[in-house]
Amino acid sequence: MKRVYLDHSATTPIEQSVLDEMMKYFLETYGNANSMHSFGREAAYAVDNSRRKIAELIGVSPNEIYFTSGGTESDNWAIKGIAQKNRGRHVILSNIEHAALIETGKQLREQGYEVTFLAVNDSGIIEPQALRKAIKDNTCVISIMLANNEIGVIQPIKELAAIAKERKVLFHTDAVQAVGSIPVNVKDLGVDMLTLSAHKFYGPKGIGVLYIRNGVKPDKLVIGGHQERTMRGGTTNVPQIVGLAKALEIATENLQSNYKKIKKLRDHFVKRILEEVPFVIYNGDTENRLPQNANFTFEFIEGESLMLRLDLAGIACSSGSACSSGSLEPSHVLLAIGVPIEKAHGSLRFSFGKNNTIEEIDYTVDIIKDAVEKLRVMSPLFYEFKEGSKNV
Ligand SMILES: *Cc1c(COP(=O)(O)O)cnc(C)c1O
Repeated sequence: MKRVYLDHSATTPIEQSVLDEMMKYFLETYGNANSMHSFGREAAYAVDNSRRKIAELIGVSPNEIYFTSGGTESDNWAIKGIAQKNRGRHVILSNIEHAALIETGKQLREQGYEVTFLAVNDSGIIEPQALRKAIKDNTCVISIMLANNEIGVIQPIKELAAIAKERKVLFHTDAVQAVGSIPVNVKDLGVDMLTLSAHKFYGPKGIGVLYIRNGVKPDKLVIGGHQERTMRGGTTNVPQIVGLAKALEIATENLQSNYKKIKKLRDHFVKRILEEVPFVIYNGDTENRLPQNANFTFEFIEGESLMLRLDLAGIACSSGSACSSGSLEPSHVLLAIGVPIEKAHGSLRFSFGKNNTIEEIDYTVDIIKDAVEKLRVMSPLFYEFKEGSKNV
C-alpha cells in the first residue's frame, strides 16, 4: 500500500548520515564524557565539537548551549527555572504555546504564581501592544513561541523580545518548529533563552538544547552530577548530541532549497484543497507562516473521522495537536484564533517534509475529496445545513 507521511511537525525521520555518525558513539567512542581516561576524553572531545558547531549555527557562544532531553525539558526548565528564582511572581505565556509550556504555566499557577496566558489575535499573532500592556512590575519571565506547531504562524519575536528587554523582563522562545525550517539567529532575535529539539529537523528523538544567555541564571531543573557546567545533571548523551549537531548542520546547509521545495508542495496542496473541496477554511495567518504547515477546517465533519479514513489510505496527518489528539478536547490553538468549537473539531493539520513528492500531494488531495464527500453524506449537520439553505 502507498504510505504518505504528512506529519513532520509531530516528528521527522532521522537522516541516514546522522544515524551513521551516531553509531560510532554507541559502538566505539562509548566512554562517559566525564571520565578522565582516553575513552572519556574522546567522548568529551566529540561533545565539545558538537557544542561549538551548534553554537555557531544559531549564532551564540558554546558556553550558552545546554543539552537536555528535548523540547519539553528545555521549555520546562526555562520557565520554572526563572520563576523559582522569583517566588510567587508573574509569568506571561501566549495562549497558543505547546503543551510543554501551557501545562508548566498551569502548574506554576497552582503553586501560587500569577500566570497570564496572553491572547493572540485572529491570525494567531501576539500583538506587541498586547504584550506591552500585559507586563507588570512583578513580571519575571515571558515565553512566546517563535513558530506554532498547529497552525505554523510565526511571531514577531524580535519586536516582542525588545519590549521585554525595555521592561527588564527575561524572554524565552520555543523555537522547536522554526529551527531547521526558517533562518534562526538567536543574537539577532534578542532573546534570553531559546528551546530547540533535534527530532523536528531529521535528528534523533530525546535530545534538545536550551540556549541560556550568559548572565542569565535559572534554577536547575534536573540535578545530579556536574554535567553541563553543573547546570543539568545526567550522563552526557554523546551519540544524541553528535546527532543533533550533524542534523542541524545538514538542515542549515539545505535550508533555502528545502524551504522552497516544501513551500511549493504546501502551496500546491492548499490551492487544490481550496479549489476542489467545498466548505473548507484555511486556518491561521497566510503570510507569517512556516512553509511546512497547512491547517484546514472541513465543515460538517469530524476531523478524527477524516483522519482515520486517510490513515486507511496510508496517509498520516494530525487532528488537533498530537498531544491533545486521543482526547476529545478541541485544539486550544484553534479556539484561540476564534475558530468555533464545532469547527475546531473538524480540523486537520498537514505538515510537509523534504522527502515528500508532488505525486504524494496529489494522491492525498484525491483521497481527501472522496473521503470528505462520503463523510458529508453521513453527516446530520450537513443534511441540516442543506435543508436549511433550501428554505431560504
Ligand atoms: C515537538 C514540540 C515540542 C516538544 O519537543 P520534544 O523534543 O518532543 O519534547 C515543544 N514545542 C514545540 C513547538 C514542538 O513542536
